[in-house]
Amino acid sequence: MYYIDPHIHMISRITDDYERLAQCGCLAVSEPAFWAGFDRASAYGFLDYFRHLVEFEPKRAAQYGIRHFCWLCINAKEAENVSLAREVISLIPQFLERPNVLGIGEIGLNKNTRNDAVVFLEQVDLAARYDELVLIHTPHLEDKYMGTRMILDMLKSDSRVRPERVLIDHVEEHTIRHALEAGYWCAMTLYPTTKCTPPRAADMIEMYGTERILVNSAGDWGPSDPLAVPKFIQEMKRRGHSEAVIRRVVLENPLRFFRQCRRWPREWEEALNGQLTADPNQTPAAAGLTV
Ligand SMILES: [Zn+2]
Repeated sequence: MYYIDPHIHMISRITDDYERLAQCGCLAVSEPAFWAGFDRASAYGFLDYFRHLVEFEPKRAAQYGIRHFCWLCINAKEAENVSLAREVISLIPQFLERPNVLGIGEIGLNKNTRNDAVVFLEQVDLAARYDELVLIHTPHLEDKYMGTRMILDMLKSDSRVRPERVLIDHVEEHTIRHALEAGYWCAMTLYPTTKCTPPRAADMIEMYGTERILVNSAGDWGPSDPLAVPKFIQEMKRRGHSEAVIRRVVLENPLRFFRQCRRWPREWEEALNGQLTADPNQTPAAAGLTV
């Protein structure tokens, strides 16, 4: 089945992973800007990172027929250094018209500190001023519930924020309802152990339906599985869900959310639609892809 992985850090994956993604039906990936595993020494480290995301990675993906999109920001972990964060934020606008950029992300909170919140709000402001989509990282494990509540409160306090243009990522059983009820898009991250396993994600689809919900691998340099989305597809099939339901989560929903970006390549999506409807393995529901 064709799918999109809407959150995967390909910069930290080997080229063989692109090949395996393509073999499993991956049509596109979207790569949020994140922590490199160490704190960068200066804003110039981010300048090179952003160039990597907008110039090099799309070419590497294209060799395997995969479309590469990305998001730009300073991640919550390095945002603890507010002066560095402000320097990095000032570098972002020059990249915003690059064709593979979908918006600002993954911004969010790390340890729910005051500095986390200051930089989060400044990046929400950046997105509002440039009319960009927003992708939000919610904190790990014990900090997740409080962090998600803080994020939702901060978003609510800015009247420029339109919930349908914001994706709250890494939701789990105790946070998904809050984000969905406030009108945001949500994503479940499929990790082998922490975050959601494919069976837990399938449980949540069964509880909350498929509206405004995505799944992703968040594959990176740590323990993670770049093929987690195909494993979720298998789990859903095993439980007897229809192809149309599964396709809505893994393909149509990411397209619906991304399509709101003013740089979205409509010609690529139209070509994709032609390809999918011509493919006998796809059911007519694929016509739902039409813009
Ligand atoms: Zn990430």
